[in-house]
Amino acid sequence: MILNNEIQRYARQLSLQNWGIAAQDKLKNATAFVAGAGGLGSPALMYLAAAGVGTLVLCDFDSVELTNLNRQVLHSERKIGMPKVDSAVETLRDLNPHIRFHAVATKITSANAETLAGDADVIIDCLDNFDTRHVLNTLSVAKSIPMVHAGVSGFQGQITFLHPPETACLACFYPQKPEKQSAPILGATAGILGALQSMEAIKHITGMGDTLKNRLLFFDGFGMNFSTITIAPNPKCRVCGKMRKK
Ligand SMILES: [Zn+2]
Repeated sequence: MILNNEIQRYARQLSLQNWGIAAQDKLKNATAFVAGAGGLGSPALMYLAAAGVGTLVLCDFDSVELTNLNRQVLHSERKIGMPKVDSAVETLRDLNPHIRFHAVATKITSANAETLAGDADVIIDCLDNFDTRHVLNTLSVAKSIPMVHAGVSGFQGQITFLHPPETACLACFYPQKPEKQSAPILGATAGILGALQSMEAIKHITGMGDTLKNRLLFFDGFGMNFSTITIAPNPKCRVCGKMRKK
């Protein structure tokens, strides 16, 4: 149920066409699992919390470092050394105390993924390595939980909305596992892509607008262009291929 105080808080989105209390209730009853409280996770979490997504599960095993602060705007200099999830919850609770936060400072593995994210309505991939992304992708396919994937580097980023069998899964178009690299990154690039991830999740939860199903959107901040390509499921995909034969 939406409280009076919340009606005031969300007034500027409640007045969006076709939004109203019904959409706000859907957000309030939803759980988003956000993997990574860093460059992408910062804007994604802030906009999810600001919009009123009722339960946010944050998962990140890192602590705040000075080198994070060019992009990870949930954190600040006084929080250096603090677990990122605790720093994030502190910031987010200040922003919106109506949200329930579950902070998990652990590494996501195939052994714990289902316990961590198995009950979520949507998984937001704000990670910086493909090994863990593929762990979450496998869960997303097995449990039919949509996953908003994004990645960033330099001035560039990409994002798509994965929900097999309706769409490809991550392994359909990233069958390899590139090694983790500390790529150079302008903070604003992560800001843009993380904000887009929150928008995809909010549209999915409320059932409004079109998500990036079967489309991979590229952002090039250097030339300042957005472009989109169609991505098709791979019938021989090692993760979602069997699902398609049923
Ligand atoms: Zn696949």
